[in-house]
Amino acid sequence: MEIQKEKTNPFTNIKHIIAVMSGKGGVGKSSVTSLMGVALNNKGYKVGILDADITGPSIPKVFGVNQKRAVGMENEIMPVKTASGIKIMSINLLIDQEDAPVVWRGPLIANMVKQFYTDVLWGDLEYLLIDLPPGTGDVPLTIMQSLEIDGIIVVSTPQDLAKLIVTKSINMAKMMGIPILGIIENMSYFQCPDCGKQHSVFGNSGIETIVKEMDIPLIGKIPIDPELTSLSDEGKIELYEKINYTFGEAFGIQIEKV
Ligand code: ADP
Repeated sequence: MEIQKEKTNPFTNIKHIIAVMSGKGGVGKSSVTSLMGVALNNKGYKVGILDADITGPSIPKVFGVNQKRAVGMENEIMPVKTASGIKIMSINLLIDQEDAPVVWRGPLIANMVKQFYTDVLWGDLEYLLIDLPPGTGDVPLTIMQSLEIDGIIVVSTPQDLAKLIVTKSINMAKMMGIPILGIIENMSYFQCPDCGKQHSVFGNSGIETIVKEMDIPLIGKIPIDPELTSLSDEGKIELYEKINYTFGEAFGIQIEKV
């Protein structure tokens, strides 16, 4: 059965949609989505981030815009802009209380996410990045089925890389016929600030072998970096400068519409 793809409002023109997924929570999916947004924005692209992680939204916080509110027009909503001009839409920009839990079931959440695509005045964007909820549940499924996604990036940590959850995410994207742009190993190692030696805190994942077996590209490895944690906590992720070595190359690739 062919599912009808959603259309945006007439004021929106999005060239590429990239979704970021992970097998489980806490692996740095939102951090990677945000850093990708910053890297692309620094390169001069117009970027938007759609926070589809409705029950654990963290995008507004790392950009320090969690006190702002998205303004509703008659039928559409204006996204919130970050200091460097990235447009953001998240449930946290709509509700009064940032710490209120979203106690909705899957279909309702999936609908809200679709509206973040159809009803938000994104304007002209070269890249819309979608921070998916972790796992392979209702929301990632609906998004993959109903939005015109150009590619998926999978984020994993060394520990869960060999486990089934990551393979499941990859297989889901493959089943949906969406190209996997690659995998990012986050919290890959810790580099000693004194001696420069790299320590595999969580063990060596053997990611090079795994990506070969799965026939997907390895985009890069991101080390554990306390500076990234503190800048994220302070809402200043745009000031993190060590990003281009990871994402610069990956986004030199021209992503074609499928
Ligand atoms: P997810 O979106 O997968 O749930 P987050 O991106 O919210 O994960 O990251 C979880 C926590 O780990 C956050 O506090 C974040 O700042 C921190 N974090 C993520 N990646 C790194 C890293 N490479 N180095 C240090 N801290 C990180």
